[in-house]
Amino acid sequence: MYDPRSMKAEDFIDDQEIQQSLAYAEAHKADRELIDSILDKARLRKGLSHREASVLLACELEDKNQEICALAEQIKKDFYGNRIVLFAPLYLSNYCVNGCLYCPYHAKNKHIARKKLTQDEIRAEVIALQDMGHKRLALETGEDPVNNPLEYVLESIHTIYSIKHKNGAIRRVNVNIAATTVENYRRLKEAGIGTYILFQETYHKQSYERLHPTGPKSNYAYHTEAHDRAMQGGIDDVGLGVLFGLELYRYEFCGLLMHAEHLEAVFGVGPHTISVPRVCPADDIDPDSFDNGISDDIFAKIVACIRIAVPYTGMIISTRESQKVRERVLHLGISQISGGSRTSVGGYVQEEKPEENSAQFDVSDHRTLDEVVRWLMEMDYVPSFCTACYREGRTGDRFMSLCKSGQIQNCCLPNALMTLKEYLEDYASPATRAVGEKIIAANIPEVTNPRARELLVQRLQKITQGERDFRF
Ligand code: SF4
Ligand code: SF4
Repeated sequence: MYDPRSMKAEDFIDDQEIQQSLAYAEAHKADRELIDSILDKARLRKGLSHREASVLLACELEDKNQEICALAEQIKKDFYGNRIVLFAPLYLSNYCVNGCLYCPYHAKNKHIARKKLTQDEIRAEVIALQDMGHKRLALETGEDPVNNPLEYVLESIHTIYSIKHKNGAIRRVNVNIAATTVENYRRLKEAGIGTYILFQETYHKQSYERLHPTGPKSNYAYHTEAHDRAMQGGIDDVGLGVLFGLELYRYEFCGLLMHAEHLEAVFGVGPHTISVPRVCPADDIDPDSFDNGISDDIFAKIVACIRIAVPYTGMIISTRESQKVRERVLHLGISQISGGSRTSVGGYVQEEKPEENSAQFDVSDHRTLDEVVRWLMEMDYVPSFCTACYREGRTGDRFMSLCKSGQIQNCCLPNALMTLKEYLEDYASPATRAVGEKIIAANIPEVTNPRARELLVQRLQKITQGERDFRF
């Protein structure tokens, strides 16, 4: 029985409710009056229900689809301005006991190279990441209680935060590890993690069980209820995601929004981020063997509809997607992207030989971070390395209330400009620095609060003189 307040996965991701919502959306996909009323509600910028958003996703009226994209673009501008936050994944270990059919780390894959970084190797990877200019990481490991126990993850987080190389520092570590216990989430929180991210992969229970035939991850309820346990363990910011291509995309979209509604109903705060990966090629994985792949057009529409449905939730896209696709969806709603990523274990220090491949997926966007930063600025975006909120204690409902009132904007742009300035001073190529200085100069007047603008100008000057790590 559908109940967003229930703590049981099958109640808050109720299959019948999804099927009925999809049938409703299908029946109304050309219902101009209903679609207009949903768009009017969306213009209030308070979000939409999973059922309303499903109607927009199903809509087949060309002019209304254009309105949907235009509204998504406007909401993106209103909440996130022209800033794009940058991060990099760091793979600690690809040992895994699970049997996920879509991932090359699955336990039965005998020809992938298995690797686990030592603390010294982590140090070397982090220095390489700092030397690129990164300040924000997403930690990734397979699930393996023997090779990658929680103690290993906690020690690794401690190592990462302790490394100060030249002017570099990793200031926020987000963690993407397997579902675990409340107690373990408490320990992750104490270790100072930012967001805990766990992809659902698919919300369709039967498909989930077919795609996860073995290992602890095969337990649908335990996996789906993990974000609840993370919140109970004190982690304020959690990230959702599905792997598009495994199941019918409309089903996943509806399930994703129901999951967000559940978190809001129970904890008073929705997901901090939503990630939108698509199945892509990797060792032992052929995306064509999954018959629910989606086109770039549908992918763009999903991004637009998520942006409208949950305006306060950051949206993340990785280097799984090509430069072209990333360019297309940035203005529709994406607020965070990875850059210069390596998806292999130890890949930042050493390029792997093909026979040693330990990567989780093939990267489509191979550009360096410097190239990604310049590319963003050439499209008039402000690349941001900001990590201020979590370090200022602006997390969970505190963060969301600032976000909903729009006050967070007073922090985001000045922080973006200061962290970009740090990047330009410490890591950028001459060509990127030249573009970046122009972007900074052009955006200073956009800081509307006069006191903040004055402070910003002073701090930019201090960064030129060698000081670092200012934040609003
Ligand atoms: S998706 Fe995660 S849990 Fe599944 S095989 Fe890959 S690393 Fe292991
Ligand atoms: S100020 Fe907060 S919300 Fe804005 S970019 Fe920085 S960390 Fe994100």
